[in-house]
Amino acid sequence: MAFWNQKKTAIDPSPKTHPPAEKPDEKRAADIPVKSQSGTAPSTRGGLPNLAQIKYIIAIASAKGGVGKSTVTANLAVALRCYGANVGVLDADIYGPSQPGMLGATGERAQAVGSEIAPVTKHGVRFVSLGLLQGDDGPVVWRAPMANKMIQQFLANVSWGSLDYLLIDLPPGTGDVQLTIAQSASLAGAVIVTTPQDIVTGIAKKGIKMFETLNVPILGVIENMSAFVCGHCGKETAIFKGAGGQRLSKEHGVPFFGSIPLDPELAASGDEGLPILFEKTETAVGKAFLNLAQTLLTQIEQGASDATRALEPEKTELSLTGDLLIHWPDAHKSIYRPYTLRVHCACASCVNENTGQKTLNPRTIIPDIRITTVGKIGRYALSLRFSDGHTTGIYSFKRLRQLCECESCSGLRKES
Ligand code: ADP
Repeated sequence: MAFWNQKKTAIDPSPKTHPPAEKPDEKRAADIPVKSQSGTAPSTRGGLPNLAQIKYIIAIASAKGGVGKSTVTANLAVALRCYGANVGVLDADIYGPSQPGMLGATGERAQAVGSEIAPVTKHGVRFVSLGLLQGDDGPVVWRAPMANKMIQQFLANVSWGSLDYLLIDLPPGTGDVQLTIAQSASLAGAVIVTTPQDIVTGIAKKGIKMFETLNVPILGVIENMSAFVCGHCGKETAIFKGAGGQRLSKEHGVPFFGSIPLDPELAASGDEGLPILFEKTETAVGKAFLNLAQTLLTQIEQGASDATRALEPEKTELSLTGDLLIHWPDAHKSIYRPYTLRVHCACASCVNENTGQKTLNPRTIIPDIRITTVGKIGRYALSLRFSDGHTTGIYSFKRLRQLCECESCSGLRKES
């Protein structure tokens, strides 16, 4: 059995109309298997122990600001809670943190416990935001390295405890913060939020491309502000022309999760800090969020994609000689020398992201380098730590299969 086999989340098919209150951590901790492997320390999600007890980390991304990504994150979190999942939200939109307002914690502060930040809980959702550390009036002028440092602290120092889902509300764009999160947080995948307009889907494509480059599966596309439903006569009016969300999903071959109508009540609920599912489950918007949550749960349960699943190793182990062994689902076994894997590291410090040229000088790697830890990232990659202290290497299953050095695989490579 694979060392990281994950237990399925028990989905409550009939969601509660109100999100249930927080459950004690201990109850869930037993449900979540700690990943371990023979001969090495338990996996800590790429060296981040505070994320180790989170089953699925999902980035909510939009590439463009103002399309409703934070609104979707807050309401989706509460909708997942209605299905009985333990949910957290990391507000990584540090240039414009809006989760404290949307989740009803304006003016509250997160507590520091030693060197750790304790999340605030609202509507049964644990969350952390820069707005809980510096308040709403603090400066949001960050140079990229500072922003990145803040995000690294969020990833390393928040005491989440055990969670089924952590939703990360990404800032708009495809910059350093997005890259750091995609490379460090062991994402199960990303959900893309767009509006129907071409101009927005054009920018959303860049976000999809970024995740594809980083081998992060796109779980689905959500179209927000799809149509305005008149509260008096029920007539639908498409304010923004186009069916951008559906088109985006078709063009990229990723699932379409659904649409959320444009509804003044949703905007008001965000301003009031009372997520729509708190009172208005029966509205079109309330139902839309419950449907989205169910689709996401199903999608996660089924695995990120068939293609990814077909490539997912059955088992990985470190041999007594320090080689990495991978048992593939087709019964093939690959054996990798640590040196080979270190040389082929494709992280941002070993390869120039823009040109694709290798910047790592293989001569700087000691021949008897060892792999100290093997972790799993979502259902698509392994993260490897090496004895030279290198920790940022992410090896997608696809790439690992390509790197197999056995006679039949290298023979096939020569033929093709
Ligand atoms: P982003 O995180 O993409 O910058 P926000 O979630 O902050 O966007 O949303 C921007 C504004 O649009 C907010 O005032 C929010 O309340 C409003 N909004 C978002 N989605 C909807 C919707 N479906 N209907 C009405 N207002 C919405």
